[in-house]
Amino acid sequence: MVCIVTMGCPKNEADSDTFAGILKAAGWRLTDTPDEACMLLLNTCAFIDPAIAESMEAVKEALDWKQSVEGRILILAGCLPSRFPDDGSGGLEEFDLVMGAADNAALAGYLSNDAIVPLPSGSGTNRYLRISEGCSNGCRYCTIPLIRGRHIPRDPAEIIRDCSILVSQGALEIGIVGQDTGAWSCGDGDIAWLLPKLAREHPSVWFRLYYVHPSHFPKDLIRVIHDEPNVVPYIELPVQHASDAVLRRMGRPYDRMMLDALFDSLDALQEPPAVRTSVITGYPGETEEDFQQLIDFLTSHRCIRTICAFPYWPEEGTAEFARTGRAGVPDASTVQSRLAAVGDAGQACQLVWADRLEGNVIEILADTSESGHSVYDAPAVDGASIFSSPAGPGAIILCTVDECVGADMLVTPVR
Ligand code: SF4
Repeated sequence: MVCIVTMGCPKNEADSDTFAGILKAAGWRLTDTPDEACMLLLNTCAFIDPAIAESMEAVKEALDWKQSVEGRILILAGCLPSRFPDDGSGGLEEFDLVMGAADNAALAGYLSNDAIVPLPSGSGTNRYLRISEGCSNGCRYCTIPLIRGRHIPRDPAEIIRDCSILVSQGALEIGIVGQDTGAWSCGDGDIAWLLPKLAREHPSVWFRLYYVHPSHFPKDLIRVIHDEPNVVPYIELPVQHASDAVLRRMGRPYDRMMLDALFDSLDALQEPPAVRTSVITGYPGETEEDFQQLIDFLTSHRCIRTICAFPYWPEEGTAEFARTGRAGVPDASTVQSRLAAVGDAGQACQLVWADRLEGNVIEILADTSESGHSVYDAPAVDGASIFSSPAGPGAIILCTVDECVGADMLVTPVR
């Protein structure tokens, strides 16, 4: 049996599903329990220092797992070996295979079965579908293009095939992922063409769109999110900052005016979709005025439901690191107080949404009999919906929102 341990974001979960499909096609059975397995595949994350530290901790545990029973097979996969490839200096001898992010061919080759078609395999109602690999945006602080290479859109026929497989495996919600899903396109169209195509083929499944770069937001996407009944009214739209000066230094090719225009068009809908955004505070050279512009932006748009804040991490290999090294970053207490202020802005957004949602009847996907997540909240990362009486699980049910408590909601199933 083989156990796959996945670290990091939903994109890695999509990759792990494909690794699972390859292993199954080669005759391996899957288990969630490392002690039952004789092979362990560790799919790591390494985009910033804390993720590397977490991955290294998991590597230590995996090595202990291997050494405790003779004959166990250990595979190191994902962003950690992609970012720090084997330079021949040693230390990787304990691994039976070291392979980079989404390297399906390396896994199939190791299993001596190059003919395996990489198809997703997994279980659960919340699944992820990767539509592209890599990123060509070149944000100056980001290691992802170093790890995953330039943007390559997947073939639409493969995406449509994999989507049907996820549905046949019991998916009730499919998260569309990629480093920049708005950049996806093929001869027939862009993400605003692909999303309705998938949604109409599987009308009883929710589709949720993640990671759209604001510069690559197709005009028609608002209509798709508004009109398609099973494309949930939700969009992950990471702005990273809202000061023109900081955005320029970050290498993000938009400005505050363009951001306001995009978010105003979402706000203007009668029922704006929920926007999850992420921001970086403490970027080199970020002044108090820059930061206040960010707060002003975050508190000016009623569509913003969730704000995810990261402190800037100087990462070797990035353009910003080459420019400023570890200098130019505001001092630690300033960064902490700015993170706290973004947290306050996030709470203000939650209050706006509480006013909008309390008393309404909305759809919830029941993840367990005690709780689920709404159309406005992504599973695992956003707030949960807590049932006043057991419901589901594994079903989409209508509920009245009794009360919003921070990011969570107390809800009563409609009988
Ligand atoms: S768009 Fe995202 S993944 Fe791509 S370079 Fe910028 S921050 Fe990194």
